[in-house]
Amino acid sequence: MEKRIVVLGAGESGCGAAVLAKKLGFGVFVSDYGCIAGKYKEMLDKHNIEWEERRHTEELILSAGEIIKSPGIPDEAPIIVKIKEAGIPIISEIEFAGRYTRAKMVCITGSNGKTTTTSLIYHIFREAGLNVGLAGNIGNSLALQVAEGDKDYYIVELSSFQLDNMYEFRANVAVLMNITPDHLDRYGYNMQNYVDAKFRILQNQKPEDAFVYWNDDPIIQKELPKYKHGKLYPFAEEKQNGAAAYTEKEMIVFTEPVPFNMELEELSLTGKHNLYNSMAAGISANVAGIRKETIREALKSFTGVEHRLEKVAKVNGVEYINDSKATNVNSCWYALQSMKTKTVLILGGKDKGNDYSEIEGVVKEKCSGLIFLGADNSKLLDFFGKAGIPIADTHSMQECVEAAYRMAKSGETVLLSPCCASFDLFKSYEDRGRQFKECVCKL
Ligand code: ADP
Repeated sequence: MEKRIVVLGAGESGCGAAVLAKKLGFGVFVSDYGCIAGKYKEMLDKHNIEWEERRHTEELILSAGEIIKSPGIPDEAPIIVKIKEAGIPIISEIEFAGRYTRAKMVCITGSNGKTTTTSLIYHIFREAGLNVGLAGNIGNSLALQVAEGDKDYYIVELSSFQLDNMYEFRANVAVLMNITPDHLDRYGYNMQNYVDAKFRILQNQKPEDAFVYWNDDPIIQKELPKYKHGKLYPFAEEKQNGAAAYTEKEMIVFTEPVPFNMELEELSLTGKHNLYNSMAAGISANVAGIRKETIREALKSFTGVEHRLEKVAKVNGVEYINDSKATNVNSCWYALQSMKTKTVLILGGKDKGNDYSEIEGVVKEKCSGLIFLGADNSKLLDFFGKAGIPIADTHSMQECVEAAYRMAKSGETVLLSPCCASFDLFKSYEDRGRQFKECVCKL
């Protein structure tokens, strides 16, 4: 009998996987414990794929030969526990799609900077005229693209959750931006589990593959000797022997495979974190054989990504910046650190086990005010209450933006960089960012 594939979670990745599985001739069933969005129901119906919503029917699921699981479903979900007991293999959509394409895979992971770097690499490859797809955590299903015509290259953003269920997949170019605590609630509050998940990006690399990584990251440094990997392409802020990119005298120096320089001032993205993102992207393109002129031009012309240090408006001399995607403490640190004026910082939301001492110093240095935005701000009030900085305790975006408007003085910046997930008050970080922009535009 042909293998029956069950897809759990009917979002972008799940539905893409179902379409590909169907096209390949597998029996396919899609099950979602929540409601399935209208566009995905249409997609499944169009391909004659059976589905269910608001339940997981065990008989239909536990008869599968293989399960493709959405990265959003945690291991503790009762259905996952049962699938594991039954010994049915669970894989990610990327793992599944990877079996059916010969395209070269450029894969990006890390705690912060994934989407920016992924978008930047995609931009360079497109500017180079390559037949390239954008996939993974960033929102487009790899499986659907493979089903609909395939590409020569895919630039794939990988979260630790996607990596958790990847086994045979091979990244021809693997990029690891950094590792700082995030999502610890999903890793048993054990940092090593999260670190191990990130390093899965190296599994199956061959000597001819490439590993691009931030050489100044202490965790990456410590862990790297444990793994097999392709050729190493480390990048660093200061000149280092063996670095594939570093800065020197207001220039980025790319050393290999093709040496070239670029003025720092020419980079379209600003801030130290974006310097790292630009280096990682430049090296990946260089490794893929893209001409240095094209890489330089593309690093100049990139326009940035929504919700990442996105300038919204200037109102009464105050700059408002939407960094809603800063959902952990480290990304907020980078955002604050890149601020050129005194800043009213908006933070709060669903705390994932945050340790705010990481930003305490930069908050004291840069912040003229703090606005807490969350259903429950007590942890923030406890931590920052005695910092001697004016504080506002708010519970809706409108209340928060009004408080920011009252607090910020002309010449200052209001920065939404919340350190937390958005799900206590918003549908998603995008929803939080858009509500912020709407409220700012109404000021
Ligand atoms: P991810 O996809 O990993 O969440 P993004 O590119 O969406 O990363 O950026 C999320 C936030 O993290 C940004 O708003 C910015 O404040 C911060 N950030 C971006 N790049 C880096 C980096 N290389 N190191 C640390 N923080 C970063």
